[in-house]
Amino acid sequence: MPMSQPFKKNLCPILKQIADHYHTPFHIYDEAGIRETGKQLKEAFAGIDSFKEFYAVKALPNPKILKIMQSMGFGFDCSSITELQLCRSIGSHGEDIMFTSNNTSQEAFLAAAEDNGCILNLDDINLIDKVPRFPNLISFRYNPGGRRTGNDIIGKPLEAKYGVSHEQAIEAYRKAKAKGATRFGIHTMVASNELNYKYMVQTAQMLLELVTMVSAELDIEFEFINIGGGMGIPYEPDVPALDLENMGREITALFDNFKKQQGYTPALFMESGRLMTGPHGALVVTAINRKEIYRTYVGVDATMSALMRPALYGAYHHIDVLGKEQSEKLETVDVVGSLCENNDKFAIQRDLPVVIDGDILIIHDTGAHGHAMGFSYNGNLRPKELLLTVDGKVELIRREEQAEDYFATLNFEADSLSL
Ligand SMILES: *Cc1c(COP(=O)(O)O)cnc(C)c1O
Repeated sequence: MPMSQPFKKNLCPILKQIADHYHTPFHIYDEAGIRETGKQLKEAFAGIDSFKEFYAVKALPNPKILKIMQSMGFGFDCSSITELQLCRSIGSHGEDIMFTSNNTSQEAFLAAAEDNGCILNLDDINLIDKVPRFPNLISFRYNPGGRRTGNDIIGKPLEAKYGVSHEQAIEAYRKAKAKGATRFGIHTMVASNELNYKYMVQTAQMLLELVTMVSAELDIEFEFINIGGGMGIPYEPDVPALDLENMGREITALFDNFKKQQGYTPALFMESGRLMTGPHGALVVTAINRKEIYRTYVGVDATMSALMRPALYGAYHHIDVLGKEQSEKLETVDVVGSLCENNDKFAIQRDLPVVIDGDILIIHDTGAHGHAMGFSYNGNLRPKELLLTVDGKVELIRREEQAEDYFATLNFEADSLSL
């Protein structure tokens, strides 16, 4: 089922009022839903001695949202300097932040080390000698290569630029130990939008096996394994959600078994973005033009700069027409924006109730990798973000971009280099 149903039930009766006040287009997020998913996640892994979610900031990098995560005890997964700054700006520090970059620059390493540092997750064995201040606690991103397939969306690990190879794993930790590291973790990410929980169980098992191997070789213990993000959400109707309960149960059993054999358990970390916020956001737009040529087009007041996923991945986002949810009469349309790219479409050949100008459309599941992926091509300005709070208020949590924002990088002191 797309979009959290309680969110839809709460939103629809008040949406007209919200649209009148704030004007479309906007993304709106549901605090109650985010908190509910956070609770389910914690409950699923309550049987493990130590569990922590590091919310993947890139999915929805808004400080108000990050504060909700923080209040649930979550940390953050960052991969750029600005993401580090964003997390620190809301008071998240030190080991509440895991920095998983790749092709990492010196500037990024220095930023990671500031402010009591963070958990540094190295992407390559060659980076060990490039870390300006080698930390006590170090993690490596592991790429299993041919040992394991990635799921369809993330592709083949053998072709992925990420992580240290299986052959390098022991050497990486040996070198890190020689550099003075005394605390160790391991990380991987081999799935994206995966709905089969077994896949995540296999990932945990793969890391626990690797930990066993490296520990035996180097006489070290691991403080954590991080199974990454990639847990999926059902974008299409009639698709069941990922089974968190069974995932939790089976991973907990793996940890119990590890404890029997090794005498301790590492913490379990994960860094989901999509699962945490994806279903708890919607892009709300207004129909502004109906066009009938070889196909029928419903033109709306947002473009793919507000939601790239359909154009980028051919992704499906469910759409409701406000007040016409029960409509019997459907027609097949493309829902489009105004960008000069023919892939600027929110839906292609979709059966929707007959839409007329002024109708409000709710594009589901935009709470992760939605607004954040936007861009300004064709002079497009990204829409505002709103939050429906648990106490029933609507807050503006990011204003819409304005022309001044677009022109901001053109305001600078004249500079030229004479050669
Ligand atoms: C993108 C990303 C995530 C989050 O992925 P989701 O599919 O949103 O769960 C987590 N970790 C890393 C390293 C990522 O690149």
